[in-house]
Amino acid sequence: MASDPYSNVVVDLDALRGNFLAVRRLVAPAVRLMAVVKADAYGHGLVAAAGAFARAGADCFGVAEVEEGVRLRQAGIAGEIVVLLGLPPQGIAEAVARELSPVVFQRALLDQLSRQAVIQGKVVGVHLKLDLGMGRLGVEPAAAGELAAAIASLPGLRLAGVLAHFPLADDPGATELCREQWERFQRVAAALQNNGQAGERPLLHMANSAALFRFPETHADMVRPGISLYGYPPADPAPVAVGQELNLRPAMSLCSRVLQVKELPAGRGISYGHRFITTRPTRLAVLPLGYAHGYPRALSDRAEVLIAGRRVPLRGTICMNACMADITELPEVAVGDEVVFLGGQGEEFIGADELAARHDTISYEVLCRFGAANRHRFVGDEAV
Ligand SMILES: *Cc1c(COP(=O)(O)O)cnc(C)c1O
Repeated sequence: MASDPYSNVVVDLDALRGNFLAVRRLVAPAVRLMAVVKADAYGHGLVAAAGAFARAGADCFGVAEVEEGVRLRQAGIAGEIVVLLGLPPQGIAEAVARELSPVVFQRALLDQLSRQAVIQGKVVGVHLKLDLGMGRLGVEPAAAGELAAAIASLPGLRLAGVLAHFPLADDPGATELCREQWERFQRVAAALQNNGQAGERPLLHMANSAALFRFPETHADMVRPGISLYGYPPADPAPVAVGQELNLRPAMSLCSRVLQVKELPAGRGISYGHRFITTRPTRLAVLPLGYAHGYPRALSDRAEVLIAGRRVPLRGTICMNACMADITELPEVAVGDEVVFLGGQGEEFIGADELAARHDTISYEVLCRFGAANRHRFVGDEAV
């Protein structure tokens, strides 16, 4: 269309499905899998990604906030939707109506949640979050019994799960600490189960992607992979070469087009601040993508892009809506040619972990940033 932007995030839904199936094969059939789709499915598009996972068999999804769960329900996603950051007071009625399963970590709001469940004639499954050393969301183990007892005593509530989160599962130096946290989790969770109400046993879940790969004993009743579903190993350098073994396939690309091609003599300054001065007669491609598209200005003069299937360096400061590539070696490149900032072209590939390593962050942040700042185009057999 005439109004299409120059640049797009392109998401391969087949890759998402393939990654889900690859991770699924890695855990025993009895272990449930929560597809973590918070943060717009790590930038891949919440509804499209969840749909791809659902068609691959996913029946449990992890979102951060109620609003994301509501969007999934509106899109027809069935199965359990766990709200990882819990409920704000104003989200309770809607969460109950949409049959979302909140994570709980404090006594406040439980009465209100129970009342809403009774009014709406529903039983809300809640997941009790323990802080076993993450230093983030969750109750201290000593306070968990009281919270579980409150859940057991309130009508309309059911303890559906008990969870914790590993802070160091991707750190090869912290193996012992991970094992200790896992054992502590089992002890605390077992005590909660014994004190809890009769009936269905709550699901125990602790493993993110890193733990899922490195500590199979932590798979418990359910695993919660995020980054691996999007095609990346959990850390850089990867704790084990899981990506390759599993054949995970990065699903996101960031693509644009050459806007202008020009020949410059040696000694010309490029872009703001003249951070780069040409040292030879240079063929330059002006590209309509910059930090407004989430491409970090911190990558100025330290990143490459793919044009005509080749890696070429970016030159000079990355602007808000533009940057420049040196295509001196590529005389055939013309205005309108595809430029890949993230993803594959020909035999070449630029990964989110590569871009992340070049400016001191992780693949997760790169994916979220590109996803948040660009229009999405979906490809693959499942794209509609
Ligand atoms: C984001 C998140 C995950 C997924 O972690 P990955 O490292 O992306 O696999 C799992 N559990 C919780 C509680 C999370 O917040």
